[in-house]
Amino acid sequence: MSDLRKLWRLQMLEEQQEKIDKGADPGPVQQLKESKKQIEAAQNNLRELKDRYQRAREQTGTLERRAQELRDSCSMISTKIYDGSLQTKEIKNYQQKLQKLQEELNLLEDRELELMQVKEDIKQEWEDKKQRLDSMAEEFKELHNVYLQDKEETKTRAQGLAREIEVLLQEIGEDPLNKYRQLKTRYRNPVGRITRDTCSGCHLGIPFEKIKQLKYQDDIVLCNHCGRMLFWDPQ
Ligand SMILES: [Zn+2]
Repeated sequence: MSDLRKLWRLQMLEEQQEKIDKGADPGPVQQLKESKKQIEAAQNNLRELKDRYQRAREQTGTLERRAQELRDSCSMISTKIYDGSLQTKEIKNYQQKLQKLQEELNLLEDRELELMQVKEDIKQEWEDKKQRLDSMAEEFKELHNVYLQDKEETKTRAQGLAREIEVLLQEIGEDPLNKYRQLKTRYRNPVGRITRDTCSGCHLGIPFEKIKQLKYQDDIVLCNHCGRMLFWDPQ
């Protein structure tokens, strides 16, 4: 392989390396971050629902205790009314008291039923949201795996490129390599390949003289327009 062919190859490898160094596509990382944020929000939401459920349960407990007290009072008063120890006037008072207690008990029981519905609704909402969270977590895991795999592949590719570049650098003559490095400060692609008599760097025509020079001499030939090193591939 001629030095120019090796430099052409080096240029290609270095371009690939630059692309890798510029950093991976930020898309997947952005997507992962977004997904993680959504998962955290869903987790917070589930915690809130759990707290709300817990509060409703505590309220139910308080109501149940109060209802039990009322029932006990009612049955005590009923016993007293019917045990024959009271005067008619007293019975009337107790009956009024009993009615009040029963009204309060009715209200409490209504409230208990409402709370039951509230708890049922919260439970349903929790289950729906939990299911959604689970599928979000599953999706995140898949995305993350793909991301890690891509990262690993890029690393392997970068290592391969570095190894091949290392070998080329050992093989290319000092002068062409120096010229290449010098031109590299001006051009990202210091080697111009000749295709249909034009330089691939500047796309301008190369005179016949230069092509003849390339065909029959080993010297470095530069493009007369842009100054890139010319690589002529007769194949
Ligand atoms: Zn040129």
